[in-house]
Amino acid sequence: MNRESADSESRRLNEPPARDPRSGPAGRGPAGGGRGPGRPAVVLLSGGLDSYTAAAIAREQGFTLHALTIRYGQRHVRELESARAVAGWLQVARHIELDVDLSAFGGSSLTSEMPVPKDRPIDSHEIPSTYVPARNTVFLSLALGWAEVLGARDIFIGVNALDYSGYPDCRPEFIAAFEQLASLATAEGVNGARFTVHAPLQMLSKADIIRRGVELGLDYALTHSCYDPQPDGAPCGRCDSCALRAAGFAGAGVADPVVR
Ligand code: ZN
Repeated sequence: MNRESADSESRRLNEPPARDPRSGPAGRGPAGGGRGPGRPAVVLLSGGLDSYTAAAIAREQGFTLHALTIRYGQRHVRELESARAVAGWLQVARHIELDVDLSAFGGSSLTSEMPVPKDRPIDSHEIPSTYVPARNTVFLSLALGWAEVLGARDIFIGVNALDYSGYPDCRPEFIAAFEQLASLATAEGVNGARFTVHAPLQMLSKADIIRRGVELGLDYALTHSCYDPQPDGAPCGRCDSCALRAAGFAGAGVADPVVR
């Protein structure tokens, strides 16, 4: 089953798809909108700050954004609300929330009852239990399928190889290999199309990502990073994702708007 966010749906019904890109509604993101006349791109949007920043960079580059959010059985389902808020802020042309329940496989503390590691050293080299088996391969494959239907040649993903948790599917080699696969795997590819998987945050530190986002005027209060939020949705402050986020905001010299 899949559905689109009510926000995107209602905006699509109420507003014409082509509009002056400078006329963003009050309270939304800065002028530009993600539905301008540019080439279409599929952006993977999780609700976290990395994918928001990557999508905003795509928008800055003039792409019309088609946002894909996967409800994969993650325990931090709170991030889906953030994904909707971010998609609204970015004024994407379309936002699809797709159910692909990876908790049927388990194998990760994000999709099972396994406890989420807390208070781990940030520079640990071991792949943590929050790794979700083949997640980015699954997500990029879904993004590729939608891109092919849209006639899009560009996919944006907010992976990062510096301040990350050691996930193998965040590495540049993986992204490059997927790009090759995309052209081999699709009818469009057989016809000569070449797909580009953009990972604009790949070599940025978390602090650099946040600085870039601040330059772009992003509202990080909309985002959610914590893997194991409290019942009221507040971040735990102790998981890897909370630790990386806190170090990033501290490094950028910016207060995190979600920390109360
Ligand atoms: Zn946390």
